Amino acid sequence: MTRPILSVVVPVYNEEAGLPALFARLYPALDALAIPYEVIFVNDGSRDRSAALLKDQFVARPDVTRVVLFNANYGQHLAVIAGFERVRGQRIVTLDADLQNPPEEIGKLLAAMDEGADYVGGVRSVREDSWWRRTASRLMNRLRENLTKIKMTDQGCMLRAYSRSIVDAVAASREVSTFIPALAYTYANHPTEVDVAHAERAAGESKYSLYKLVRLNFDLVTGFSVVPLQLFSMFGMIVSAAALVTYLIVIIERLIISGWREGFATLWDRDILAFFLIGMLLFGLGLIGEYVGRIYQQVRGRPRYTIAATLERDADTHVKVASRV
Ligand code: UDP
Ligand code: MG
Repeated sequence: MTRPILSVVVPVYNEEAGLPALFARLYPALDALAIPYEVIFVNDGSRDRSAALLKDQFVARPDVTRVVLFNANYGQHLAVIAGFERVRGQRIVTLDADLQNPPEEIGKLLAAMDEGADYVGGVRSVREDSWWRRTASRLMNRLRENLTKIKMTDQGCMLRAYSRSIVDAVAASREVSTFIPALAYTYANHPTEVDVAHAERAAGESKYSLYKLVRLNFDLVTGFSVVPLQLFSMFGMIVSAAALVTYLIVIIERLIISGWREGFATLWDRDILAFFLIGMLLFGLGLIGEYVGRIYQQVRGRPRYTIAATLERDADTHVKVASRV
């Protein structure tokens, strides 16, 4: 295998319906670039026939295909990291397996790198997703823009190119829950963006449920910002101060005005205050839990994933099927 210049990393989770179409478009697009390349597919614990299809593809194009099979589903971002840890090229492109990112656009990203960028983010000029996904993305993009120092127009677009040094840094980061476009951005010297096309999913359904999307955005916000934690403590301080003032007023009122009003007013205020503070405490507890949960995961230092098998060609051109299972 000639040493690849370009490594393409594709996470795959239950994509059997779309993989044949992906192979049929990705390889010609890469061949057309006329540079040595490799494609690393990471099967993220698919329960359908994706692994078998990837194996067939490896057999068909062993010179440029490498396959990593996870034993279980660890999520798109860890799948991409597994690819990052194995890349041999100097430029790395990530791509979704569902053909929402047209492989023909890879050339555009590489052209931006020729001009000196070490991080090229794709921006989906026209986005082919449901209305609620587009609206939620817009809101999350704005929130991230305000909470972190990361400047990205379209954080959800995974069609991106990275220099090898960035990818090595991402792979060396021992975080458990992460968001690769943001993490890579923090390592970039010359980030830039280019407009890329976007298509509807070729086949199958989105692998992100509402729950998974919410989790991912928690990873993004808590992974790159402590503002939520700070906001909470600010809010807590303001509320405590307001509570103190309220009680002062109630006590003064008590001293000045006597009779039934006194008891009634005190009770009523205390109830409101108690409910408010309990709500606050619960909210704060939940938020602190987000951070503590991550610290807990981090300090355990478990391997972030374990691999069931890898399919790749040996350095000395022999086809090899390595397996530990
Ligand atoms: N994916 C993955 N593991 C997961 C979820 C998704 O490897 O747990 C892959 C999926 O196969 C696809 C990419 O990540 O290649 C993006 O997923 P999807 O297209 O479902 O997300 P959406 O486009 O709806 O944001
Ligand atoms: Mg998709």
